[in-house]
Amino acid sequence: MAVAKVSERWAAMSLVPKEEVGLLVDGLARHYQVIGPKQKGKAFVLEKLASGQELRLDYQTSILPPRKALIRPRETMFSFHDNQVETVQDAGPQVLFGLHPCDVHALTLLDQVFSLEYEDPYYAARRQQTYVVALNCTTVGENCFCYLMGTGPTLRDGYDLLLTDLGNEYLVEVGSDAGEELLRHLSLRPAPRVRVVEKEKRLDQVRRQFRQQMEVTEMREVLAGSYNHPAWRELAKDCLGCGNCTMVCPTCFCFQVKDQLELDLNHGQRVREWDSCLLWDYSLVALGHNFRPQLETRLKQRLYHKLYYYEDQIGTPGCVGCGRCVTNCPAGIHPLEVVARLKGE
Ligand code: SF4
Ligand code: SF4
Repeated sequence: MAVAKVSERWAAMSLVPKEEVGLLVDGLARHYQVIGPKQKGKAFVLEKLASGQELRLDYQTSILPPRKALIRPRETMFSFHDNQVETVQDAGPQVLFGLHPCDVHALTLLDQVFSLEYEDPYYAARRQQTYVVALNCTTVGENCFCYLMGTGPTLRDGYDLLLTDLGNEYLVEVGSDAGEELLRHLSLRPAPRVRVVEKEKRLDQVRRQFRQQMEVTEMREVLAGSYNHPAWRELAKDCLGCGNCTMVCPTCFCFQVKDQLELDLNHGQRVREWDSCLLWDYSLVALGHNFRPQLETRLKQRLYHKLYYYEDQIGTPGCVGCGRCVTNCPAGIHPLEVVARLKGE
């Protein structure tokens, strides 16, 4: 029985030459909006690909995470006029192409967050029509610590198709019925077993590039006893309260909601936009009270949420180790270094 499963899985693997991977995007783009990594200046962004030629699978990370395809940075939820309400919904079939394992993990976390107590209809409508073509990592970015968080550099589930760079071609694995459906639009050749073995060898080499600094359980233990540690005050002196770390984080999900009313008081719209717990007015409530006026408490909130509270809420840390917050923090604040400092290192 087990043998049958292995051979079925192996039979489902195909190969696409590197120079043809753009054609794969073009094939999918006839049926779906394809969002994937492309170059912007010296950085990479995840955006709609006008053609497969724009695809850059050699990227290490994107500036903004893929959550922007599911929760827009700013979106109109509904408009209203003369006691009528019109819901705005812009969901359509889309393929997120070339997502790294950490970002795929982040999507599975968001799936839980947005259906935990109440299902978010905007997120759900987009997610139901979203296919994931993931890409195992064969290089390690300077700030990546996915291996430590158990979210990379390789993927076991959460994808419809999974690509692995084998040098001159990509190995393509099917992860779901939807993935099989995607393949129906493409013509790929089956992978010989020797290429599948090569994949495992390559990925083992990548895993060996990570330095294991700390176990996730240890992070939790350190944080549990460090809420009043003096290091927080010192860290808050460095932090600018800019919110960059939250805007680029693939698992952050906070938003604020505003009603915008026209002068005739008969027309308007309700909009929501990304918010950040690092910003001063995030915790400001009616009558001017602010629950976290000090930057120290806001910084603490972010790190405790990522590495402690998230686990209480959904059973897994809220950090996938993508390193974006490290890359984009003007003060150089690194979640792992914060925990190390609290530990006295
Ligand atoms: S906290 Fe930082 S490293 Fe962790 S998922 Fe968010 S952006 Fe990535
Ligand atoms: S990016 Fe850095 S400086 Fe800006 S709020 Fe986050 S931790 Fe503070």
